[in-house]
Amino acid sequence: MSSPAEPGRAGKRVAVVGGGPAGLFAAERLRACGLSVDLYEAKGSPGRKFLVAGKGGLNLTHSEPRPQFDQRYREREAEVAGWLDGFDADALRDWARGLGVDTYVGSSGRVFPLDRKAAPLLRGWVRRLKEQGVRFHVQHRWLGWNGDGSLRLQCGEDEIAVTADATVLALGGGSWPELGSDGAWVQALHARGVDVAPLQPANCGFDLDWSGHFRQRHAGSPLKPVVAHWRDLHGRPQELQGECVASEYGIEGSLVYAIAADLRETINRDGHALLELDLVPGRDAVRLHADLSRPRKGRSFGEHLRRAAGIDAVKAALVFERLGKDAGHDPDAVARTLKRLPLRLLRPRPMAEAISTAGGVRLEAMNAGLMLQALPGVFCAGEMLDWEAPTGGYLLTACYASALRAAESVVDWLR
Ligand SMILES: Cc1cc2nc3c(=O)[nH]c(=O)nc-3n(C[C@H](O)[C@H](O)[C@H](O)COP(=O)(O)OP(=O)(O)OC[C@H]3O[C@@H](n4cnc5c(N)ncnc54)[C@H](O)[C@@H]3O)c2cc1C
Repeated sequence: MSSPAEPGRAGKRVAVVGGGPAGLFAAERLRACGLSVDLYEAKGSPGRKFLVAGKGGLNLTHSEPRPQFDQRYREREAEVAGWLDGFDADALRDWARGLGVDTYVGSSGRVFPLDRKAAPLLRGWVRRLKEQGVRFHVQHRWLGWNGDGSLRLQCGEDEIAVTADATVLALGGGSWPELGSDGAWVQALHARGVDVAPLQPANCGFDLDWSGHFRQRHAGSPLKPVVAHWRDLHGRPQELQGECVASEYGIEGSLVYAIAADLRETINRDGHALLELDLVPGRDAVRLHADLSRPRKGRSFGEHLRRAAGIDAVKAALVFERLGKDAGHDPDAVARTLKRLPLRLLRPRPMAEAISTAGGVRLEAMNAGLMLQALPGVFCAGEMLDWEAPTGGYLLTACYASALRAAESVVDWLR
């Protein structure tokens, strides 16, 4: 990125729309290059989703080395890797340090602020942006464009028109719409001929048909540890150990979120997805069979199952859910079920409940600098772009990295 003093940019004005991490970071970099920056945010304050992310400890990024880090972005690995070349996990940690927030690597490799909070980081960030001259306009909802190319912004009852030399849209995805990113922008971009992949839930739970009995007694129970077995879209078997929760409607939790993209796409293709859970990782089927075949000594089969397999009530209930109340007659089937409990997933949970969104502005609708082909001078960044990643800090990292790429391109374009 060029220096602020470079001639030719003085007086150029950029409108950044959306005050999430992507919009804030784009504004920061644009301002650092001497551009005049106005940031428009629909809500009464910026960074609401960022604040909510802080409730889970604010997983800023991940310590996993590249290129493994890049592979988390699946089909968009190559493009996101290009953005990460400009701003990676270490750069993000340095940036947080610049705001007085040190980070640490947790046992899972995830990176968090020392205090695991988002509010102090966001407060310091917004204060610094204001000191640097970024003008914040909250409660300004972008509606699209007027015929003359100016931005339509709704402010209370009024609609105003704003002109800018360049615009960065950082409007987020469609999850947790109450926090501001509601996906309403899709229509405005479609209307201007921009190709947008349909928004879909990512990092989400799935519906399945529990029996009423199971739901009543075990909804909300954690399943840990378990190993998930599933097939990716190419039919290749995959497995991952982790923890999940048997919920009211089906299954959710970190393990399910991590593999949700494959499951969702399989449902899109086949109408359902098969997820198999190993409920007793570390015990092989032969040992299980031997343990289950030991005399019950007057105990009910449920009690015998829990003791012999070393499992809790919810895992035992899953065996009965699958095999019925006569499960005790067939230790072979019980052992097989414990090692591979099949779950037929029907649909992802609604987007509003998801941690993040897949789909968005197709990268093919933009140049490498994230400027829309159909709308020269309009750039996009953050979760509204068509990439997805599991939780683990990969989401925020790509939001920052894409915002830097868009900001750099604005500077080049205005030159
Ligand atoms: C519960 C939860 C926990 C999460 N935890 C983590 C985590 O620990 N680590 C991680 O990496 N990611 C996490 N995420 C995901 C992460 O928060 C998002 O990926 C990230 O905030 C996206 O940044 P963004 O700037 O692209 O969009 P957003 O943060 O959604 O910001 C978009 C902004 O644009 C504004 N806006 C939308 N439409 C308009 C409009 N028409 N006019 C004006 N303004 C508009 C919105 O109000 C919003 O402020 C979490 C998400 C959730 C829901």
